[in-house]
Amino acid sequence: MIVMKADASERELDLVLRRIESLGFRPHLSRGVERTVVGVVGDERQYEAEIFEELPGVERVVRILHPYKLASRDFQAADRVITLSNGAQLGGRDVLVMAGPCAVESEDQLRTTAALVAAAGVRVLRGGAFKPRTSPYSFQGLGIEGLRLLRRIADEHGMAVITEVITSEDVQLVAEHADILQIGARNMANYALLRVAGGAGRPVLLKRGLGSTVDELLQAAEYLLAHGNQDVAVCERGIRTFETSTRFTLDINAVPVLKSLTHLPVVVDPSHAMGRRDLVPAIARAAVACGADGLLVEVHPDPASALSDGPQSLDPEGFGAMMTSIRRVAGAVDRSVA
Ligand code: PEP
Ligand code: MN
Repeated sequence: MIVMKADASERELDLVLRRIESLGFRPHLSRGVERTVVGVVGDERQYEAEIFEELPGVERVVRILHPYKLASRDFQAADRVITLSNGAQLGGRDVLVMAGPCAVESEDQLRTTAALVAAAGVRVLRGGAFKPRTSPYSFQGLGIEGLRLLRRIADEHGMAVITEVITSEDVQLVAEHADILQIGARNMANYALLRVAGGAGRPVLLKRGLGSTVDELLQAAEYLLAHGNQDVAVCERGIRTFETSTRFTLDINAVPVLKSLTHLPVVVDPSHAMGRRDLVPAIARAAVACGADGLLVEVHPDPASALSDGPQSLDPEGFGAMMTSIRRVAGAVDRSVA
């Protein structure tokens, strides 16, 4: 990482960028308020940092010890704020709630859910069109029909859409319909998919694998960033531990840990972590209290009839109550809920 002097000229910066490229590295520019920082991406083992130190305008060269660079706070100190097409922001002062059904099941189901979450102030509609189910015999989603329904119904409420993409071949199609591409826990380490999603020109929400460390999550995020995508957010959704009282164990520690290591927005999914709707609001409040920038929550107008994840989906009343309670917690930590 090359830190430019505060008074470095554009010409000096240009020289540094050209030197980086001539050595076969890729430069990543980050213009801060006080300093411009240039990330040097590539295999740096063959060169000493000093080769850049002598260039005019360079203040110092810092080796980043994390296996991820672009995702680290060292590279970019200020929080990344992702602005969606409807103006909603992830990573800013507001806590962004993304809510909707686990899977898009029908026009009726999505319409009812969208209306109820929109009425509670939600600006991002979630819903799976391509579902990565554990069993091949479970409902796999409506596919393209689900994407069309999400887009149309979200637009009626001025909402953005987040939906999962499970194969590289579908990235383009999903990007045409969605505002945020969701990479699911089971695909966190699907590097071929990450490469394609990194170049899709859409924000990506990357969920932590159920058996992955924070470090592995950030290296997966690095794939997206290194392929040109700046708008990346990471999501804690529960990991597998020896504890069986809940579906997964929400690693609440991961929220402040991630906030300290990365400038990327941090989202929490309390639904998949808990697996039980009665426990979802409590951990959603904890997530907001400890600094999460967003929540991804499953809601269903009639959870008993849901085709996937009914037991963890909030019903309309439960969702309303959760929204009221997280607004209070957000206020207590100097934030608000969008
Ligand atoms: C989902 O959000 O619908 C989902 C499948 O989550 P995860 O990838 O975290 O299991
Ligand atoms: Mn689900």
